[in-house]
Amino acid sequence: MSDLEKKKKSGWEKVSKDLEEKIMEFAKEYMYYLNNAKTEREIVTFSEKMARENGFKDISEYEKLEPGDKVYYKNREKNLYLAVIGNKSLEEGINIVGAHADSPRLDLKPNPLVQDGNMAYLKTHYYGGIKKYQWTAIPLAIHGVIFKENGEKVTVNIGENEDEPVFTITDLLPHLAKEQQQKKLSEAISGENLSILVGNIPDKDAEEKSTDTIKKNILKILNKKYGITEDDFMSSELEVVPAFKARTLGFDESLIAGYGQDDKVCVYTSLRAILNVEKPERTAVCLFSDKEEIGSMGNTGMESHVFDTFIAELLNKAGINRPNLLDKVFCNSRMLSADVDAGVDPLYAQVSDINNAGILSEGISINKYTGAGGKNNSSDANAEYVAFIRKIFNENDIKFQLAELGKVDIGGGGTIAYILANKGVDVIDCGVPVLSMHAPYEVTSKFDVYEAYRAYEAFFKN
Ligand code: MN
Ligand code: MN
Repeated sequence: MSDLEKKKKSGWEKVSKDLEEKIMEFAKEYMYYLNNAKTEREIVTFSEKMARENGFKDISEYEKLEPGDKVYYKNREKNLYLAVIGNKSLEEGINIVGAHADSPRLDLKPNPLVQDGNMAYLKTHYYGGIKKYQWTAIPLAIHGVIFKENGEKVTVNIGENEDEPVFTITDLLPHLAKEQQQKKLSEAISGENLSILVGNIPDKDAEEKSTDTIKKNILKILNKKYGITEDDFMSSELEVVPAFKARTLGFDESLIAGYGQDDKVCVYTSLRAILNVEKPERTAVCLFSDKEEIGSMGNTGMESHVFDTFIAELLNKAGINRPNLLDKVFCNSRMLSADVDAGVDPLYAQVSDINNAGILSEGISINKYTGAGGKNNSSDANAEYVAFIRKIFNENDIKFQLAELGKVDIGGGGTIAYILANKGVDVIDCGVPVLSMHAPYEVTSKFDVYEAYRAYEAFFKN
């Protein structure tokens, strides 16, 4: 019999010395992952490696799938779907945990390199919802790929190691920013001004009358380092991300500060959870989608049908596929849409309804619905399903809280939940509360991170 009145308490209160050690160790491993997987492509590469080390094989390596088999499918280096085949038939439904691998950042424009005055810049177009002023005057790194016309791939990762240069976006000094400081926060820094400073030395071999010699010198350096020409930027995906490392935060070492925790915190915890799954009753599926921050569109976004193709392949290789079976599988399936929640920030408490908001260290946040203003565009989980999830979490002693993303009419947000719900899956949003979400440095609680890991594992096994 549960208590009559709901009690809200910090999760740390009941943490034993032993458990605290486990939480701290897990956080350390998570921070290592954050520092080695800052973009969706890096997440896929790093996670595939972890999966293979734990017995997962590419779907093409299986002729036939049997209960207990561990399989994955990689979509264009940007999505990863993992499954552990259950004892029950896939027809009875699968348990899905889905997170997104992309995070807000600055993408280089197709023709990015310019010289202005005696500085060379790479121009960017921001990706996802950012507060532009947060991206100036911080160290930045460039991660990504360049494909030459002949298909040759060049991998770029510069700005992370101490012996490598970093980049930055300059900002006006306060002494001369009187006019800028009067502007609205959203207008003080323009999108076109999010250009990263990349050089200042003129090409020494240039003729006296030639212009843009600093840009020319940068092109020479890029050619030497990466073997590319200016045209090769056309077929590149270069992402500018904060260069700083994820670190433990606080005298009590209770928190984690790091870039891209939306939604790598759910990617990592769900990945670790599925690595623990052996011969489940229902097939366990973990998916990492791309493009969530810009609307889930495109052939690597959750709106694409590639995930359906993966599930259809499981049905094929289990030898049970028949017309319309995929629709039935989805209707019998359950999902946790693993995405972060807006944690209550005591400095900005006015935006949260404290009784309906995720609080750091009070466990994983469940959002029955997302959306904004009148539940617009929300994926609203059915009460029956919420009861089912509550039961699993309580039976496994997982600390959780029910939350909304901010006060009514203040704002809102969405996740990939509705896309799977549209297929007939029972879905609820369930993730880690974050402070400074979408900022270059986001904050989570180590307690909640560990609880998310336990929650996803319990879900897979039920
Ligand atoms: Mn997210
Ligand atoms: Mn987000």
